[in-house]
Amino acid sequence: MIIDIHGHYTTAPKALEEWRNRQIAGIKDPAQMPKAAELRISDDELRETIETNQLKKMRERGSDLTIFSPRASFMAHHIGDFQVSATWAAICNELCYRVSQLFPDHFIGAAMLPQSPGVDPTSCIPELEKSVKEYGFVGINLNPDPSGGHWTSPPLTDRHWYPIYEKMVELDIPAMIHVSTSCNACFHTTGAHYINADTTAVMQLIQGDLFKDFPTLKFVIPHGGGAAPYHWGRYRGLAQELKKPLLSEHLLNNVFFDTCVYHQPGIDLLTKVIPVDNVLFASEMIGAVKGIDPETGYYYDDTKRYIEATLNLSAADRYKVYEGNARRVYPRLDAALKQKGK
Ligand SMILES: [Zn+2]
Repeated sequence: MIIDIHGHYTTAPKALEEWRNRQIAGIKDPAQMPKAAELRISDDELRETIETNQLKKMRERGSDLTIFSPRASFMAHHIGDFQVSATWAAICNELCYRVSQLFPDHFIGAAMLPQSPGVDPTSCIPELEKSVKEYGFVGINLNPDPSGGHWTSPPLTDRHWYPIYEKMVELDIPAMIHVSTSCNACFHTTGAHYINADTTAVMQLIQGDLFKDFPTLKFVIPHGGGAAPYHWGRYRGLAQELKKPLLSEHLLNNVFFDTCVYHQPGIDLLTKVIPVDNVLFASEMIGAVKGIDPETGYYYDDTKRYIEATLNLSAADRYKVYEGNARRVYPRLDAALKQKGK
């Protein structure tokens, strides 16, 4: 089986964006604030957007199942207050749930949280619980910077975040550490803010001792771990300076990296530097980089090609990257598959 652990509903029907625009207008003018029930999207519309996009590409490229969460750049937790985020997150999660019901063999959900800058993350728990218990979601996306590029929240190792971690441990779900759109002109959303955040998360985890408090907590650092694998020597050296254990003990029982790296040399480096048990297949397809690489003639985000071509992985290693590690890091995914006899 080939499990893509990083997919977003980037192709949702236009009505979703129109509803969101009305919601944003309603922040200034409450008379314009739409009700959630005013968004109407039929199953046929959902089917159409998936069959002609993500599912079509999954079939072409040969992946079976995608862990599917709301469009990350649209989370925009910095817009409005908690109530705005809560309504928006509920709508976006429900759409991913409906996709997972329409295509149960191909999609399973991961939740967006209703984060809001300066608001206690405890407020996210009801949506998190609903997504896991009612929708069967197997993970969450946790935004370490709900301000959208201004980094006003404490580091991920701070007790501020512990209510989320306690719930994650209780429900046995991992979090992908995933920022949203940047409203800071210095940081391009997917080119700088995403990669910066991935790198920042790794360094925060090195500086702290979070996994002493939560030995079973699991984080997936997307986009190949940002700059961390490329600079692994720097991070090993910094951990040493900080008198931390070796990264293999300090981080790698709890931290995993996806393969959303869009060229062969990047995947070669990732699979050479990071132990294979910590690498999970992902494409984030129809995401930030939708084009075709003129050097290869293939889509940049067709990441399976790079996994196939790298000389660093044996057949047993590829099984781990494609399936085995995902089952281990996402126990609820494993349970859902086993229930279907897979
Ligand atoms: Zn993403």
